Amino acid sequence: MGAKPWLQHYPAEVPPTYDYPQQHLAQFLVDSAQRFPEQTALDFMGAKTSYRTLLDKTYRFANALRNLGVQQGDRVAIMLPNCPQAVIAYYGVMLIGGVVVMTNPLYMPREVEYQLRDSGARVIVTLDLLVDRVNKAMEQHPLDYTIVARVQDELSFPKNMLYPLKAKKDGTAVKVNYNERIISFKEMIKKFQPVPYMAPIDTENELALIQYTGGTTGFAKGVMLTHRNLIANTVQTHLWFYRYRVGKERYLAALPFFHVFGMTVLLNQAISLGGTLILLPRFEINQVLKTIDRERPTVFPGAPTMYVAIINHPEVGKYDLSSIQVCISGAAPLPLEVQNRFEELSGGKLIEGYGLTEASPVTHANNIWEKRKNGSIGIPFPDTEAMIVQPDTLEEVPLGEVGELAVKGPQVMKGYWNRPEETFKCLHNGWLLTGDLGKMDEDGFFYILDRRKDIIIAGGYNIYPREVEEVLFEFPGVEEAIVAGIFDPYRGETVKAFIVAQSGVKLNEAELKKFCKERLAAYKVPKVYEFRDSLPKTMAGKVLRRRLIEEEQAKSDKE
Ligand code: AMP
Repeated sequence: MGAKPWLQHYPAEVPPTYDYPQQHLAQFLVDSAQRFPEQTALDFMGAKTSYRTLLDKTYRFANALRNLGVQQGDRVAIMLPNCPQAVIAYYGVMLIGGVVVMTNPLYMPREVEYQLRDSGARVIVTLDLLVDRVNKAMEQHPLDYTIVARVQDELSFPKNMLYPLKAKKDGTAVKVNYNERIISFKEMIKKFQPVPYMAPIDTENELALIQYTGGTTGFAKGVMLTHRNLIANTVQTHLWFYRYRVGKERYLAALPFFHVFGMTVLLNQAISLGGTLILLPRFEINQVLKTIDRERPTVFPGAPTMYVAIINHPEVGKYDLSSIQVCISGAAPLPLEVQNRFEELSGGKLIEGYGLTEASPVTHANNIWEKRKNGSIGIPFPDTEAMIVQPDTLEEVPLGEVGELAVKGPQVMKGYWNRPEETFKCLHNGWLLTGDLGKMDEDGFFYILDRRKDIIIAGGYNIYPREVEEVLFEFPGVEEAIVAGIFDPYRGETVKAFIVAQSGVKLNEAELKKFCKERLAAYKVPKVYEFRDSLPKTMAGKVLRRRLIEEEQAKSDKE
């Protein structure tokens, strides 16, 4: 590969060589519990768990799992929103050398069944509210054990926080018929002793996690991440966030842990630095603002839609956001207006980064305190290499030209679970082809234009949706905008814009079109506009462009 102009932008604190601890991932928790036993590890809507208690419960849970016969290498699915049991289950499974399979609690039985079958999971840890769904999935894929947690055991919290799980509208306890295969989480912790145990593992090769990539592209594949992958990415985030204060940071855990971004930048990072995780089981804007005001988080990783919701809240001025010092935004492009407004409101830094499940996930970020560039995903993370290549030949393209982003580093996955052909397509000599199109400037900053698959081709012209969305975002009153290619008998595809207006604003299609025409080549200007109250999103805040396209296809099939 060519020059690495980004190296000049690393702060002096980033070392030239990297010495990752050769250890088990759960060692992070053990170490923090030793250093900060009384420090609050988890704060769940006011219910606090110290590091000492967290480790105690995790040892108990791990001991109980071993008693059930769960062995090193066995897959254990965790289907929970952000709550204390999710953290205990995660580190508990890791301690015994099990492989965690994070499962989205919003999944329907068909989706759960797919993940359980594909990963070959034997056990699932879930919530009483979700047991019915799991039972349905199990008709197709019987499990050895279902371990049932009840959030009500930990606290009483606003019922609307569980609303999307919707098992019972009032949030009251659901009756679970326990038997030898359906086991109570609480009982396991009560019955078993906190025996310190950590499976001897080969950190380079043994899996800590099989993480299914979001359903935004193609079918879901399991990404194999080793202990070393996760440790490396956690340490890389420390290097990036080099002014962190050990034992003092407070993390607003609004990103779901079942998404790899939340898992690394919250679950692993906070625990490894002896920080406090302020757990939010759901992103409910009023609750989020109240929590920030009351709990005073210092770090708040999120997806752009979260920051958008905050800056547009009609009463945002009533809340004190000044505790927030650092936010990393990932998962989707961060519009400049959002970044500026959020920084103005909080006085903290909102930095754009980039990553993907296949890289544990972070590979790029702008500097927090040094040089950053608007619209850029930043420079490669410490100990990460990146280049822009010609997708077919894998040759590096000339500087400034568009190609596919390829990355290499200790955070890059081992491969896809049971899919060697898929692995072969995207991993070459340690280089991971990301499937994203982008470019690098002479300064070593990278820009994402789009996903390879999202390109719209209208009349032979390539249109990168992001470029059009940026313009729509600039139009006053637009809260969210997404564009997609829809069928056009003449051009093959044409651009359609889906728009959400800020509350109380009525947008005018003709004006929007005129605005776009003034800023974009004619072929890029959306021809069709649809105004909606909201856009379909994953829980990590990624807009499901594919779902919008499918809806359009279904409509045109009917016609
Ligand atoms: P996932 O594996 O679900 O985390 O999705 C990873 C994908 O999210 C990447 O391949 C990108 O397409 C997208 N993505 C992540 N961060 C950004 C960003 N800052 N800008 C644009 N796209 C992003």
